[in-house]
Amino acid sequence: MLKCLKHHIFKIIAEIAATENLEVYVIGGYVRDAIIHRPSNDIDIVVVGNGIHLAEKVAQKIGNNTHVAVFKNFGTAMLNYMDCEIEFVGARKESYRRNSRKPIVEDGTLKDDQERRDFTINALAISLSKGKFGDLIDPFGGVEDIKQKTIRTPLDPDKTFSDDPLRMIRAIRFAAQLGYTIQEETFLSIIRNKERIGIVSKERIADELHKIMLSKKPSVGFFLLDKAGLLELFFPQLTRLKGVETINGRAHKDNFVHSLKVLDNISKHTDKLWLRWAALLHDIAKPQTKKYYPQQGWTFHGHEFLGAKILPDIFRDMKLPLNEKMKYVQKLVLLHLRPIVLSQEEVTDSAVRRLLFDAGEDIDDLMMLCEADITSGIPEKVKRYMANFELVRQKLKDLEERDAIRNFQPPISGDEIVQIFGISPCREIGIIKNKIKDAILDGVIPNEYEAAYQYMVQIAVELGLKPVK
Ligand code: ATP
Repeated sequence: MLKCLKHHIFKIIAEIAATENLEVYVIGGYVRDAIIHRPSNDIDIVVVGNGIHLAEKVAQKIGNNTHVAVFKNFGTAMLNYMDCEIEFVGARKESYRRNSRKPIVEDGTLKDDQERRDFTINALAISLSKGKFGDLIDPFGGVEDIKQKTIRTPLDPDKTFSDDPLRMIRAIRFAAQLGYTIQEETFLSIIRNKERIGIVSKERIADELHKIMLSKKPSVGFFLLDKAGLLELFFPQLTRLKGVETINGRAHKDNFVHSLKVLDNISKHTDKLWLRWAALLHDIAKPQTKKYYPQQGWTFHGHEFLGAKILPDIFRDMKLPLNEKMKYVQKLVLLHLRPIVLSQEEVTDSAVRRLLFDAGEDIDDLMMLCEADITSGIPEKVKRYMANFELVRQKLKDLEERDAIRNFQPPISGDEIVQIFGISPCREIGIIKNKIKDAILDGVIPNEYEAAYQYMVQIAVELGLKPVK
């Protein structure tokens, strides 16, 4: 246990605790992570007394004008030292009102402070006080739960979850991140208290979802959220993908299960959060576009277009950012069928150039998404698709070496066209630019200025235009 107190900050805090005669502990996630050998740079310090005062003393001792960020309203203070962010708080007791997850806070003992923690594995404390340095205080069997890989609340789970319903999602997040099991009584309580999630802000839920998303096998978290009945309460667009319908003996796949498989597949190859989101949401509009035709069977025509269209609403609803991250996910959702279609037909230069033009910088991510999208259980099919993708990749590489399409800039700008033909801005300029672009993408002319100029003069004649210089 003492090994995890090697960081120099603990020595400094212990010296102050000794001279000021204070009861001080390191608590929570840092202790848990030290036991399971997970690196952590966030250290939470609890003092029976005034956290801000202790932080200021520690900063003085460190010297170098160490800055203390004080949050008076919360009674907390934070400072950075070496590679760590250290938060100081006075031990507290919390009580809750029915309609808010913001507690009423009073000063308390270490025990009170441990009782307000969400899970036994997060309620562990190690003393930094004189004569007790390194002693572990584990009133709820947190170490045993770490050994058993169990998530369990320290108090009656109904109280813990009803007080702060975000803890229900945190339980699932820890289970997903650490590969632990939620103890049965605790999980049943989540099911009982699921409706309480309504008082939690979507922003806090999104923070936890990102952590689930970044875990090794994110489907674990999403299946648990679904099993608990939580997912349909805060993310109904996702649970709508669930289910299999059969007509005339023909069934379509369960798109919820499929989307989670794609998410797991891509997570083996990338830690990019928004690429993982794209994997989860790529088929989000399948329920709305589902149709059965006796000849074709089940179809989802246009689900990529509708998916891209409704994506901003989903992001708005889930309080996900409405900036370039959303645009990136939207683009991948929109284009996710293109490489597949391409690989099923003859892979022409023109089609590959157009794909490269539309995907731009995100082409590699798009290819990764498409490969992750192959979830067929039939090995021959998987092999055939993969081989076709390899062909598309090879073509992409060849074309990139020849043409610079990925970051396509029109070789002749609109301003230049205005000057060359002595016209004022008009519809014809757009037509000319588009024709030049199409000619390049179709391989009619190379992506070069001189060739584009000659071609432009040729097509301008058809529009009744002549260069004035
Ligand atoms: P991570 O760093 O992966 O998010 P963590 O356990 O350090 O994990 P924090 O959110 O930083 O998570 O919380 C630090 C500690 O504060 C937790 O270990 C837990 O003891 C306590 N805690 C955090 N959120 C809650 C909550 N909603 N209810 C009760 N205790 C909580």
